[in-house]
Amino acid sequence: MNKMINAAVGALLAITLATGSSAGMPSSAAPSAPNASARPLAGLTIAIDPGHQLGNARFPRQINQLVDAGGFKKACNTTGTATNAGVPEATVAWQVSRAVRARLVRMGAKVVMTRNANSRHLWGPCVDKRGAFPGQHGAALMVSIHADGSSARNRGFHVIAPQKRAPWTTTTAKPSLRLATQLRDALTSAGVPRSTYVGSGTALSVRSDLGTLNRSVVPVSMIELGNMRNASDAAKMTTRRGRAQYADAIVAGVRSYLGRS
Ligand SMILES: [Zn+2]
Repeated sequence: MNKMINAAVGALLAITLATGSSAGMPSSAAPSAPNASARPLAGLTIAIDPGHQLGNARFPRQINQLVDAGGFKKACNTTGTATNAGVPEATVAWQVSRAVRARLVRMGAKVVMTRNANSRHLWGPCVDKRGAFPGQHGAALMVSIHADGSSARNRGFHVIAPQKRAPWTTTTAKPSLRLATQLRDALTSAGVPRSTYVGSGTALSVRSDLGTLNRSVVPVSMIELGNMRNASDAAKMTTRRGRAQYADAIVAGVRSYLGRS
């Protein structure tokens, strides 16, 4: 764009701003009012848990403190894994979480996140706090976003739901598995390959050892986006386009679980 056009656009923008939203413009150019179909998630709060925190490795005392992970003690958190090129899991989890949040907000949801920064100066929160978080914020559900570290030839995503263990997951185990299944189906439909090493082709895993899942009072699933040590999975996680593919699929899974597709 040349300078003259830029100036003209700038002037027009200034006039539009000065005269208010659409005053003086033809009605066909006025923005349409939000409606239910454009905002299918209006009225809902959704919690996102971006796994780990970039600074965890620098705070070993804090992240190794033992917390109640659902009737047993476990380390507050871990450092997470990384790609062979050194891109940390915390960063990929953060980037995909932000992409998911942007999409959910556009659809009218209120989104709350267990951490609001990705910083080497920060650690945590601990898994007990992550688990309690969605219930404390009135969320309908929580999706915890991680990426795995396995041997290089293993690849693909899997989704983890909490095992039924009274009293911790008595009410959440069943709906969480339904949520995990919807997320699995949406990721599969989006063309993300299923895990070749967890879940025997189902890309689903039910576990009892994860505080984030055990401590939640609302339906919760944890997604392992792929194997960071696998070149093809790592390529998807470290490009904007790849992360958009994950985010679109996660949002589709959340919507179908909620019946708001
Ligand atoms: Zn992780």
